[in-house]
Amino acid sequence: MTKLLQTTIAGSLPKPAWLAEPGQLWAPWRLEGDALAEGKRDAVRLVLADQERAGIDIVSDGEQTRRHFVTTFIEALDGVDFAHKRTVRIRNRYDADVPVVVGPVARRHPVFADDAKFLRGTTERKAKFTLPGPMTMVDTLYDGHYRSREKLAWAFAEILNDEARAIEAAGIDVIQFDEPAFNVYFDEVRDWGVATLERAAQGLACTTAVHICYGYGIKANVEWKKTLGSEWRQYEQTFPLLARSAIRQVSLECANSHVPIELVGLLDGKDVLVGAIDVATDRIESPQEVAATIRAALPFVPAERLYPCTNCGMVPLSRDVARGKLMALGAGAAIVRAELGLGR
Ligand code: ZN
Repeated sequence: MTKLLQTTIAGSLPKPAWLAEPGQLWAPWRLEGDALAEGKRDAVRLVLADQERAGIDIVSDGEQTRRHFVTTFIEALDGVDFAHKRTVRIRNRYDADVPVVVGPVARRHPVFADDAKFLRGTTERKAKFTLPGPMTMVDTLYDGHYRSREKLAWAFAEILNDEARAIEAAGIDVIQFDEPAFNVYFDEVRDWGVATLERAAQGLACTTAVHICYGYGIKANVEWKKTLGSEWRQYEQTFPLLARSAIRQVSLECANSHVPIELVGLLDGKDVLVGAIDVATDRIESPQEVAATIRAALPFVPAERLYPCTNCGMVPLSRDVARGKLMALGAGAAIVRAELGLGR
C-alpha cells in the first residue's frame, strides 16, 4: 500500500555559514572554484540527512547550489545582462536590483542537470527539484528587449521546459515550479500565467507541481500581508484555473495563514501540498500543531491527495530553527497517519 500523507518541503533550506552568509537573500558565496563546488555538494548532503532524519518522504536539495531561486537560473541564460542591474519593484512589494533582458533569451546548456543527478545519487527517497515559474521569472528582472511580460513569459516557458526535461532525465520524481507572482497579478494569471506554466511542464512524465504563496517571512512580505485583510481569498481566483490545468500538485500556505482552508476544495482532482509549517516565525511548531493544520484540511482534500509541507522556503531561517520545523512536520504527519490507521 502506498504510504499516505507523504511529507515534503516547499523547496529551500538555510545554507551552512561556511557556504553563504545566513539570514540573507542573495547572500554571496564564501567559497570559490573547486572549494565552492565541493561545498555546495556537502551542503546538499547535510540537508538531505536533516530531511531523512525528520521523516520527510519527498526530499529536495534545499536549493543549496543556488544563491536565489529565480536569478541563479536566469544568470545561466543568454540575452540577460547581469553586469548592469536595474532596480525594480518586484511582486508589487519591494525593490530589488535585478538583471536586465537585453536580447532574445536562450539556454545554451543545462543549468541544474548536474545538481539533479547529484541529488538523485545521494538519496534513496523520492526527490523533488524546484524551478522558478515563467511569470515569477518575468517579475524578477527588468525587460529591456521584449517589452511584453507575456512574450517574455512564453520565451521563458520554452526554456524551462528544456531544463525540466533534463532534470526529469536525471531521475527526479517531482518538478515544482515556484509561482509566488500568481498571488499578485490575477488578470495575468488568467490571461497567460497558467498557460505559460503548462508550457513549461509540457510532456513531462514525472509529477509536476506549482508552489504559490505569500512569500518568505521577510519584512516586506510581512508588511504586505497586513494589508490583505482578515481573510485571504486570492486563491479563490487562481485555484479553479489550476484545477483545470495539466499541473498535478499545488503547494500553498495553510499554517498561521488567513487563507480560508475550505478554498483548497477548489483544487478538486489535484494533489494538495498543505503548508503546515509557518516560515515567517522562528517559533517551532509542536507536532500537535502540525497535526491540527493537516486535520483542518482533511475535510476538503482526501488523505490520498494530501501532502503535508512547509508554507514556503525556509532559506531565511536559522539552520537550528529549520531543522526543528522539519522534525515537527515529520512528527505531526505521523500523528495524523496513526489516527487514520494508516501506520506511521
Ligand atoms: Zn513560497
